[in-house]
Amino acid sequence: MYSSPLPGFSPGGGRTDLYWGVQLKKALFIDRDGTINHDCPYCKDPKDLRIFDDAVDIIKDFRKKGFVIVIITNQSGIGRGYFSEAQYEAFNTALLNELERRGAKVDAVYHCPHRPDEGCPCRKPGTGLVLKAARDLDLDIGSSFVVGDRDDIDGEMARRLGMKYMIIRRDVSP
Ligand SMILES: [Mg+2]
Ligand SMILES: [Zn+2]
Repeated sequence: MYSSPLPGFSPGGGRTDLYWGVQLKKALFIDRDGTINHDCPYCKDPKDLRIFDDAVDIIKDFRKKGFVIVIITNQSGIGRGYFSEAQYEAFNTALLNELERRGAKVDAVYHCPHRPDEGCPCRKPGTGLVLKAARDLDLDIGSSFVVGDRDDIDGEMARRLGMKYMIIRRDVSP
């Protein structure tokens, strides 16, 4: 059962900052594989899509509290040649459609297609995806939140940015 990690936040009453006349929004940065959907691993076929019920609840809860919902996901399967960008998009579209059908609409998705050895700054625990999303969507990192299933990846990224975060342990086999 999911209970809100944000007792201090009232619905719609979260912090917003004014910066150069732009009103920055708070966001939930949520991991995809192993957090929203059962990890395959290297999920690519929409028929393998299985969504965790508590992930739906988390997205709906943050949405209700006024957070922009952003998926940030490492997809090195693209760089490794396990699947194409088109296959990635097909799986992702199926996931977004199913989430929206269940009332958990996602606003944006950012993915890193690179292999670990490419050393790009966007592969988590690198902070590139969050920083890019924050620039693109006028997000305030300081009032945003990270949810993931890996402390060494999602948790480490959040710590590098000084962000609040929650790691959900998944002890189920895919
Ligand atoms: Mg994960
Ligand atoms: Zn990358």
